Amino acid sequence: MANVQIIGGGPAGLMAAYSASLAGHTVTLFEKNTQLGKKLQLTGHGRCNITNACTKEEFFTHIVHNARFLYSSFAQFSNQDLLAFLKANGCPTIQEENGRVFPSTNSAVDVILCFIEVLKKQNVTIKTNEPCLSIQVENQKVKGITTPNGFYPSDGVIVTTGGMSFPTTGSTGDGYQFAKDFGLTIQPCLPGLVSIHSKDVIDLAGLSLEKVQIQVKQGKKVLYKETGPILFTHQGLSGPTILNASNFLIKKDCKSLQIDFVPSKSLEECNQLLLKALQKHPNKTVQHSLEDLLPKRFVQYLLVRVAIDAKQKCNTITKEKRLELCQLLKACPFSIDGYGDFHEAMVTVGGISVKEIDPKTMASKKIPNLKFAGEVLDLDGQTGGYNLQIAWSTGYVAGATI
Ligand SMILES: Cc1cc2nc3c(=O)[nH]c(=O)nc-3n(C[C@H](O)[C@H](O)[C@H](O)COP(=O)(O)OP(=O)(O)OC[C@H]3O[C@@H](n4cnc5c(N)ncnc54)[C@H](O)[C@@H]3O)c2cc1C
Repeated sequence: MANVQIIGGGPAGLMAAYSASLAGHTVTLFEKNTQLGKKLQLTGHGRCNITNACTKEEFFTHIVHNARFLYSSFAQFSNQDLLAFLKANGCPTIQEENGRVFPSTNSAVDVILCFIEVLKKQNVTIKTNEPCLSIQVENQKVKGITTPNGFYPSDGVIVTTGGMSFPTTGSTGDGYQFAKDFGLTIQPCLPGLVSIHSKDVIDLAGLSLEKVQIQVKQGKKVLYKETGPILFTHQGLSGPTILNASNFLIKKDCKSLQIDFVPSKSLEECNQLLLKALQKHPNKTVQHSLEDLLPKRFVQYLLVRVAIDAKQKCNTITKEKRLELCQLLKACPFSIDGYGDFHEAMVTVGGISVKEIDPKTMASKKIPNLKFAGEVLDLDGQTGGYNLQIAWSTGYVAGATI
């Protein structure tokens, strides 16, 4: 039986505390806030999109960076294992569209209460309001940790301090500093699941479109493609499709993207559609006619971009201008001038290099009784419950194999 210290009382730390205690160890969980799971409380707008009920194969397609690293931990503790755990411990769940799973009470707080109850039964000592200040290592072995209350000797430490997203919740990058102290590599940390700033978005704030396709190309090669809803903001673009794309785009430092506003139609079909709309009322203004097809503000925007006067009569639009408009609808370029910052970010892109971590145990290859789990690692997923599942799976494995 080992004396195990877990640093950070978010989802990864709560799950690691559970599995380590289940394995028979004496476990102490340290959380620097006065309460556990401050970020977890905010998830899913307070409802907690706790995981996604998709298949294993689909799960990995929603992991943006280092999906392969997760194969072993997901096999050891999957989304289905999580659902069984929650059910067995009095926190039943409901599944909604696109496989998203929530606690059936729709309350993230209930997930935290469930863990508090479970950890109490497992005799885990919980120390809130007690930050870990440093980890002591001698001869490639962890000896203990130091908090403002003193030194705690340890046989094994699991670092679950989260990343740098939403720092007001306590995730201020402490784990990276611990890892750096022992020579571990940190991949550059960037805000993930954030909006995109673009000077090409003008006067469209608040407009949302249900189904567009965003694409990033390098020459003719398509680097990224996703279809779904977007939202225009004062600064640029947001909405689920943009947030999901941001993890990929920010890491690749992409400077522009294209949006296909009519992904269900080919360029020619789009041309025919416009032709029909313009021919229907030849003496009406072009603005008026196109409003039958597209939202008013969006028509105004498009016409400005192709330099067509909104008051021009339909029958005066040349074939060339119509084709220009079509091309804009099918592949409208937007510059990427920046991203939302860590205060807005839902996850961190980057973190402790997974090359230096054993994927079967989450142990550091350099210091085997020092483990890392959750967002502190260089792992990130799209929206839909995937990021919490990363925390549950890696946290479980770190605790179970200590
Ligand atoms: C607004 C918002 C909504 C989100 N919604 C969803 C969602 O619905 N579904 C989903 O899958 N993902 C969601 N996410 C992402 C998800 O919350 C994270 O992926 C997840 O919380 C990461 O878990 P973690 O345990 O690794 O880190 P965290 O949740 O960040 O927990 C780390 C904990 O460690 C503590 N800590 C830090 N340093 C120290 C120290 N030195 N000593 C002691 N304690 C320390 C922190 O206070 C914190 O409590 C959302 C994120 C945000 C910001």
